[in-house]
Amino acid sequence: MTDLTWKSIAELAEEVRSGKTKAIDLVGKSLKLIDKGKAYKPIIATLEKAAKKRAEEIDANISKGKDPGRLAGVPFIAKDNFLVFGADTTAASNILKGFDAPYQSTAINKLEAEGAICVAKANLDAFAHGSSTENSDFFTTLNPHDKTRVPGGSSGGSTVAVALSMAPFALGTDTGGSIRFPASLCGVVGYKPTYGLVSRSGVIAMGSSLDVIGPITNDVNDAALVLDVMAGKDPMDMTTIDKPEELSDLADRGIKGLKIGIVKEYLSDGLDEKVREVTENTIARLKDAGAVVNEVSLPSSKLALACYYILCPAEVSSNLSRYDGQRYGYNYKDAKDLDESYTLSRDVGFGDEAKRRIMIGTYVLSSGYYDAYYKKAQLVRTKLIKETAAALSDNDILVGPTSPMTAFKIGQNVGNPLQMYMTDVLTVSANLSGNPAISLPAGKDGNLPIGLQVIGKQAGDKELLDISKSIERILK
Ligand code: GLN
Repeated sequence: MTDLTWKSIAELAEEVRSGKTKAIDLVGKSLKLIDKGKAYKPIIATLEKAAKKRAEEIDANISKGKDPGRLAGVPFIAKDNFLVFGADTTAASNILKGFDAPYQSTAINKLEAEGAICVAKANLDAFAHGSSTENSDFFTTLNPHDKTRVPGGSSGGSTVAVALSMAPFALGTDTGGSIRFPASLCGVVGYKPTYGLVSRSGVIAMGSSLDVIGPITNDVNDAALVLDVMAGKDPMDMTTIDKPEELSDLADRGIKGLKIGIVKEYLSDGLDEKVREVTENTIARLKDAGAVVNEVSLPSSKLALACYYILCPAEVSSNLSRYDGQRYGYNYKDAKDLDESYTLSRDVGFGDEAKRRIMIGTYVLSSGYYDAYYKKAQLVRTKLIKETAAALSDNDILVGPTSPMTAFKIGQNVGNPLQMYMTDVLTVSANLSGNPAISLPAGKDGNLPIGLQVIGKQAGDKELLDISKSIERILK
């Protein structure tokens, strides 16, 4: 019978490098587990042929004495908005069906350069617009802890794949919470780096000033190693920053003396009782372990959701304008002229949520309303950046829940977009301010996991990961 767990990524790679384990066997195990969990529908396509070929090359190189790298033979799964050779890149949207990427994303290239092997592409809300995977144009992914509930989104497929052990890690993107939110709902670790730390080149853009790429893993060590490989400046993405330091060599400095800011607004009304209880218990345990806990206020975080749902659609409407039916994927065949071809390709190809965001985005950017919406939202964003920096100058980290609720029922929020947007209320602030943030499994309500969100300083990813490792030890 196939073993249902994975050793740590560092151990797996070490075993492959030393010849104790074969890369082809790790890929075989991953493909087997993908098949075993298919009833949960996290995967859009596997890259079986390409993955096996790469594994054989890696094994052959090792027998010739070459070193394939720090992630030698480790299988992983990418959200289907990463450009990867070997399968179509669809972003779970009908308009991109059949799109064969002409180049690969930098993140994938960097992982491959260290010997990691992409085995599959995972489901998401189309173009990453959503919190449940129900906006996928293809199918909805199911929560591994309760099949009648959503896994969270938009990186729901990647998250479920890790929760079901289909691979030791998966990649997600986080524009307003899409790594942290599903990680919270599925009980795994989801890491959103500082904006710019990982190149966005070759990842289908949602909101370019908000998008980040990050790992979904079983623990903090694994997250740090994958992040370390992907991080750093990239000439293909002018917003990237240098990796400030080695990120994977984590130090558990302990909790004693740690200064923790509890964001008052994150524990206000609207939280599920059990989420509040788990968060408060966790804070109490950290206090018992010697942490200094301070209440802090981010007054603008109350406006963060409204601000996000102006700025994000504005950027979405601009980023989606390139899908005109002529250059990528789907084209409406029976159009009578070019204008109709544009219109009908977009009408048939885009789902409801993409259209909704295009309409909101073009509205808030239109000359008559720009000052009233877009400009105001930018002002709020600047205030939030300042408030977050001030709170973090007195504290090492900020802590609160990742999600106001546990996994909700499939269909529950589908007819009510505003209700769906509300699920992001605790995650969007870190995207607006660009700070790194992580979701750690902190407890459960019955079967359903509850995540703790830890927010760190701008470019303080190493410190945040070190601290997260200490918190993880307390939580286990
Ligand atoms: N749920 C949020 C949205 O729908 C966040 C999505 C994301 O982070 N990609 O915009």
